[in-house]
Amino acid sequence: DTLTDSFTSAIKKIRFHDDEKALKKALAELKKALLKADVHHKVVKELIDRVELDTKKAGIGKDQFLDAMRFTLHDLLKSEGHQGFVFAANPPTVILMTGLQGSGKTTTTGKLATYLKEQKKKKVLIVAADLQRMAAVEQLRQITEQIGVDLYEDEATKNPVEVVTAAMAKAKSNLYDVVLVDTAGRLAIDEELMSELKQVRDAAKPSEIFYVADSMTGQDAVRTAQSFKEQIGIDGVILSKYDGDAKGGVALGIASQVQVPLRFIGAGEKMADLEVFLPDRIVNRLMGLGDIEGLAEKASSVIDEKQAKKLTQKIKKGQFNFNDFLEQMESMKKLGSMKSLMGMIPGMGDMSKALKDFDLENSQELKQIKALVSSMTPKERENPDLLNNSRKQRLAKGAGMDQMDVNRILKQFKNAAKMAKKFSGKKGMQDLQNMMS
Ligand code: GDP
Ligand code: MG
Repeated sequence: DTLTDSFTSAIKKIRFHDDEKALKKALAELKKALLKADVHHKVVKELIDRVELDTKKAGIGKDQFLDAMRFTLHDLLKSEGHQGFVFAANPPTVILMTGLQGSGKTTTTGKLATYLKEQKKKKVLIVAADLQRMAAVEQLRQITEQIGVDLYEDEATKNPVEVVTAAMAKAKSNLYDVVLVDTAGRLAIDEELMSELKQVRDAAKPSEIFYVADSMTGQDAVRTAQSFKEQIGIDGVILSKYDGDAKGGVALGIASQVQVPLRFIGAGEKMADLEVFLPDRIVNRLMGLGDIEGLAEKASSVIDEKQAKKLTQKIKKGQFNFNDFLEQMESMKKLGSMKSLMGMIPGMGDMSKALKDFDLENSQELKQIKALVSSMTPKERENPDLLNNSRKQRLAKGAGMDQMDVNRILKQFKNAAKMAKKFSGKKGMQDLQNMMS
């Protein structure tokens, strides 16, 4: 029972004009949902009062209620100050990544580096300054290797200040655009953590300090952010694990209580699962209205434009084949977890719940499709119509599956081709191009 579900059901309650009773019911539901999502009671009261006032002012009705909710949530979430990533006037831009242990600092550092490298074309250095946990440096090694970003590490010392000082010198002489410093966390705030962090901060002289907040921890995350703000100073908050169930509440809490701009949200374990925090998008998603813009942005970041054009041409001519099908599945993989994607499609919020654990990368389905396509001759791949019964039998053997599975996958392919063709109609082309641009 997520905040989005409750919002959606509250919205459904308002059906008639001038129905005060319906409004009261909807407001009560809203209130319950917000409190349950661990939003501070003062914030809840403020929010509910404003939604009620605005709805009544506009004349009670569904649209009026929706508008009031949208404006109120938007107002709460928007902040003065920086949005997304901000580059320092003089490179390198240095970011100190802070937060409690397990909040997602290291993963988020990798995601940010990926974002900066892929979308901003920047030269990024990650610094391993968490020397508390044995596995921390190794974790960063794996991440940086995977994403192709440089790592500064020094196992000869246990002193993060030394590591950071040397890393900064290297960053300057090697002309890095951005330095991301991954620091150690604790299970809870303590003197030692804060004093180490202050030393690391003073050595790194960061352009900005980011605090990574675990969305699943509710008011705890809000309180901890507050004390990091007081003791270390923070310039931005990144919400991690936003793909979890408890999400929305913590965004409202940080925005209204800590008053530090929310900069990014991480919604998934994959390196592509990071996006700029934009109030409108979050409000839409909270209200179950989807986020087409976010989806298009994510899609265009991994789909090569030329490749996309070639594909649409082929689809238009009805030449969409198995090679294209496989290629499409592969680019889907790069998009990150299905669940966070589905949440962006209007009306598909519910579906994303069902897909919770669907992992394209390790999907049995994708493996089967790959096996099947690799058993095909080049002619068969290019011309799906060739596949008669005897060929299907041969494929089943070759791919080590039942003919039933072969039929099922072929049917899927036909559907995909049909969908693709539909997209390629006059209006569809427009939609697709809009999505790609
Ligand atoms: P750190 O101790 O703060 O450096 O935290 P880590 O980066 O090691 O992350 C702790 C755990 O949270 C790891 O298992 C991550 O895979 C997971 N994690 C981090 N960010 C996300 C996220 O956005 N979504 C999900 N589902 N898991 C995440
Ligand atoms: Mg870590």
